[in-house]
Amino acid sequence: MNYDVIVIGGGHAGIEASLAAARMGVKTLLITILAEQIGASSCNPAIGGLAKGHLVKEIDALGGEMGLATDATGLQFRTLNASKGPAVRGSRAQIDMDRYRIYMREVVLNTENLEVKQEIVAGLIVENRTAKGVETQLGNRYQAPKVIIAAGTFLDGTIHIGDKQQKAGRQGEFASIELAEYLRSLGLTIGRLKTGTCARIDGKSIDFEVMEVQGGDEPPIPFSFRTDRATFHPEQLPCHVTYTNEETHTIIESNFDRAPLFSGQIEGVGPRYCPSIEDKVNRFRERPRHQIFVEPQTREATEYYINGMSTSLPTDVQLDMIRSVEGMEEAKIVRYGYAIEYDFVQPTDLAHTLETKAIDGLYCAGQINGTTGYEEAAAQGLMAGINAALTIQGKEPFVLGRDEAYIGVLIDDLVTKGTKEPYRMFTSRAEYRLLLREDNADLRLSHYGRRLGLLDEVYAQKVEQKKAAIQEGLLFLRENYATPTKAFLSQLEAIGQMKINDKTCWMDIIGRGDFDREKLIAILPEFDRYDVDVIEQLLVEAKYSRYIEKQQQQINKMHEMLKVKIPEDFAYENVSGVSNEIVEKLQKATPPTLFGASQISGVTPAALEIIHIYIKMRQKTTAE
Ligand SMILES: Cc1cc2nc3c(=O)[nH]c(=O)nc-3n(C[C@H](O)[C@H](O)[C@H](O)COP(=O)(O)OP(=O)(O)OC[C@H]3O[C@@H](n4cnc5c(N)ncnc54)[C@H](O)[C@@H]3O)c2cc1C
Repeated sequence: MNYDVIVIGGGHAGIEASLAAARMGVKTLLITILAEQIGASSCNPAIGGLAKGHLVKEIDALGGEMGLATDATGLQFRTLNASKGPAVRGSRAQIDMDRYRIYMREVVLNTENLEVKQEIVAGLIVENRTAKGVETQLGNRYQAPKVIIAAGTFLDGTIHIGDKQQKAGRQGEFASIELAEYLRSLGLTIGRLKTGTCARIDGKSIDFEVMEVQGGDEPPIPFSFRTDRATFHPEQLPCHVTYTNEETHTIIESNFDRAPLFSGQIEGVGPRYCPSIEDKVNRFRERPRHQIFVEPQTREATEYYINGMSTSLPTDVQLDMIRSVEGMEEAKIVRYGYAIEYDFVQPTDLAHTLETKAIDGLYCAGQINGTTGYEEAAAQGLMAGINAALTIQGKEPFVLGRDEAYIGVLIDDLVTKGTKEPYRMFTSRAEYRLLLREDNADLRLSHYGRRLGLLDEVYAQKVEQKKAAIQEGLLFLRENYATPTKAFLSQLEAIGQMKINDKTCWMDIIGRGDFDREKLIAILPEFDRYDVDVIEQLLVEAKYSRYIEKQQQQINKMHEMLKVKIPEDFAYENVSGVSNEIVEKLQKATPPTLFGASQISGVTPAALEIIHIYIKMRQKTTAE
């Protein structure tokens, strides 16, 4: 059977990859181990979070599915860091894990140009270092010039619970052994990572009365800008908060010798930012307690996810430690927590399109690239699917810059720096985060979604109208002034604002720290014609215009720098302050421009700056 693109794996990466390719009009096959596990959440029943929310909003603006799926199956919606600046706010939603899977499976099975097969891929068909298709354990061969591997935690997956080990990709699901062996034989740089999850508890056995309640935002804000905010009223479920205590820590500590994490049984490197409870107790002994979030897995709330107690301790210890926590004294464990080790491909083996450098037409996306998180996986899947389809269509690759999107930061970090531990996105990774906010993802990226044919014209139009309204509002605020008339001063006083003494630009008045929509409408009632999200943009622009301008200047400077040509005979070895490793890489690659140099793995922005100075000095001396 012939296809244009074959995607291996129906996880968060594989879904976005196969939907993107099929929606761009190329014939796509999605092969996955278990059809009913398409869109399964291996770990926490939540989408988004700090910086992860940015990725979901960007996927949505490009026409991806994760945001819509979250809005359709969400149980609770919150904005994290709501009291902080817009650049570090993050949307997070609790999802109904079962309904999320069903939603995604239905979307995948109802997408034109997309076929789904439940099989285990055992190997690839590769000729002359070019992908030609895949072969499954059932002996079926499927041909396609583009193959995307999105096999997640399944590549030679090994589960650990105490001294027990099991080959699996997730609890109860086959591991992907043959494909892992095949990838090692291909000469890709393979490493070993680890992640883990917590036990799931029977809801009837939890005493919520003694726990703190954590509810959703009112009104809840949808993830997708394609979801109508005005009619978005999902019935929200609460989460609950409790804490470990000295007794919990003693139980864990006295069983460190039975912990596979400490006995050397687990070799893979785990996520620093998502440590297991035994790791936390070990690393932060001085802390008397650790926070635990008790999260419903479905709307029926029959099973709960104990966020903060990920573990691979033996089952008896898991029960004792959980029952030592307030509110869980009678807890019944439905599924035990476990750790999983799995193979990953060092992403420096990939280009910015996520195509492998070694095998033409072979792409990797998701956890296989050393990341952790549904959102990071989905973002990579989308980009791999788009680029595979574009090559089929003979079009230019699609790569997002670090100044355009968190997705650009994610992929650039991976392919230029690689990773030694599971890579999670943070706002601190994005040097231009003030411009890359959640609230303007649609303004930044929807034109790409439209151009790629992934975003419906209707929504693309809506964004253009929003952009026009924002420009109109900004123009008024920048070019008009308020005068300290008696009437205006009493209006300011009425909304608790300091008075003005002279004619003041509206932008400066609106830009005051505590200005919000209500205050704006109170003094400029004509602005009531603008939508909530347009006002949001006007307030952010007014508050942060100076910083935004500064960051824009940095970006323009960076763009100018990257255009600089590197003389063919440039002597990198004479540039002091650049490491020998970088010098060797540049001497080998001989990039024509600084942009080319910036694409080489390991070449840091700092090294680029220094080389730029040397090029300028040389131009000066040759000019004299
Ligand atoms: C136990 C556990 C705990 C986790 N804990 C966290 C956490 O705390 N925080 C966090 O951010 N992330 C965590 N994750 C990771 C999170 O689940 C992943 O980041 C995310 O699911 C990655 O998405 P993906 O699409 O790359 O892979 P997955 O969601 O793993 O999907 C891979 C898909 O590939 C299919 N597949 C694999 N091999 C083959 C084959 N040979 N043939 C056909 N199909 C194949 C599988 O059936 C599956 O559908 C955890 C994962 C696990 C398993």
